[in-house]
Formats: sequence, C-alpha cells, structure tokens
Amino acid sequence: MATRQPAVFFGHGSPMRALAHDDTTEAWHRLALGMPRPRGILAISAHWYGPGTAVTAQAAPPTIHDFGGFPRELYEIQYPAPGDPVLAARVQRLLAPIAVEPDDSWGLDHGTWSVLRHAYPNADIPVVQLSIDATKPAEFHFEAGRALAPLRDEGVLIAGSGNVIHNLRAYAWGRPSQGPYDWAVRFENRLQGLIGAREYARLIHYEALGPDAVLSIPTPDHYLPLLYVLGASQSDEAIRFPVSGIEGGSLSMLAVQVG
Ligand code: ZN
Repeated sequence: MATRQPAVFFGHGSPMRALAHDDTTEAWHRLALGMPRPRGILAISAHWYGPGTAVTAQAAPPTIHDFGGFPRELYEIQYPAPGDPVLAARVQRLLAPIAVEPDDSWGLDHGTWSVLRHAYPNADIPVVQLSIDATKPAEFHFEAGRALAPLRDEGVLIAGSGNVIHNLRAYAWGRPSQGPYDWAVRFENRLQGLIGAREYARLIHYEALGPDAVLSIPTPDHYLPLLYVLGASQSDEAIRFPVSGIEGGSLSMLAVQVG
C-alpha cells in the first residue's frame, strides 16, 4: 500500500498567478515538496462546474485556457501532464451509484494548472479532473469527497482548487492598494476556526453562517472544492493552513491541508 497522501485545497486566485513567483506560489511549491510524491492527482476545480459529474478520461488531457481578456503569455501556457484513464475508472467505481461520465471534451483548466505548474512544475504526475455537479446540494459534494477518500491510500493526491471567499463584484480590479474588506477578514478567520474544529455540518450549511457568508460565497462554485477535501479527511489528522490572506479586497487565498 502506498503512503497515505494528504488532501489539499488550494485558493487559486487570479489566473495571472500562473505567471507569478511570489509568496503564494512558493508556498504551493514547498507544500508539494513536503509531501510524499503522489502517483496521480485528482483535481476538483471550481471552473468545471455544470450539470452532472464527469471525469477526464484522456491519456493526454489538453490544457484549457478558460478565461478571457488576459495577456497572450497566459494563453501560451501548457501543462502537459499525462492523464490516467485507469484512475478515472477507479473514480467512477468509488463514486457509484453516482453516474460519472468519462469525458474527452474538457481537460485541465486554469483552476488546476495555475496551481500545479507551481506545485509540480515538471508536469510528470498524471492528472485527472473531476467536474462539480452544479445541480447538487453542498452535502452531495462533501459525501463525494468521503467516497473518494480511499484514493489517498492508493497514493493519489486529492486537490481541490477554488477560493473560500470569492466575491468578484467587490473585487478591487485595477486598485492594487485596496485592503481586505472587514467582512472578508472576519469570514476567513471564522472558516479557519470551523475547519480546525471539524465543524463540517456548519461548513456544509454555510448559508446559515450569516451576512459575511452571503458576501463571501455569492455562488458556490469556488467554495465546493473545499468540501471534497474535507470529506476525504480522517478525524485524527492534522489540519494546516499553508496559505491565508485576502487578495483584491474580497478573494481569500486560504489553502487547507489535511494529513
Ligand atoms: Zn477561479
């Protein structure tokens, strides 16, 4: 049996971070260096969010540039990690009776590669991406994470990628001096407390956390990848926050490592 892999949620932030070398990208790289090398990565990105659950099944998943209006060099980035159809089939079996479609229309989107190109710059670990079914409640995604937990003992890194606070209406586009909004700082601190205390029921029913939650999670897409990671955790594992802090006023870069 392989060494149990941690499960990690990454706050990915702007796609431009793919081109950056800063404290956050260095923290991602150090995080990867500090973990056993995975034999595969199952990525759950906020940016593959739609009806149904699907898994990338290609031997060589394409790099998808799923954004608009960014500089050309961002579109030139390739993350040529191999796929892993055997891992994709294993994911299908673990999630049964959920119908998981094998997919060849998607690939690795920027939620996945903007992080992985810093964490694993050689792109030599197979990556499979799992879509997030937008029609399902938060509890479904937590339970899916629980069903996927055995992958960790098979040497697979479960990597969620989103942002626990993601309010683009309040985001300080073009205003680099904008400090964090009070509500964002409060809510990031609160989430860290709830995650550290394993208050999973409250994290699943995040709408009940009050006005700060409404501002922080206007849509669930960037929050739900966290629930896969928490669902895959064991009750006796350490929980760490390798990255925290608010960017552009309203976007949390919080990373969560379990195990
Ligand atoms: Zn995003």
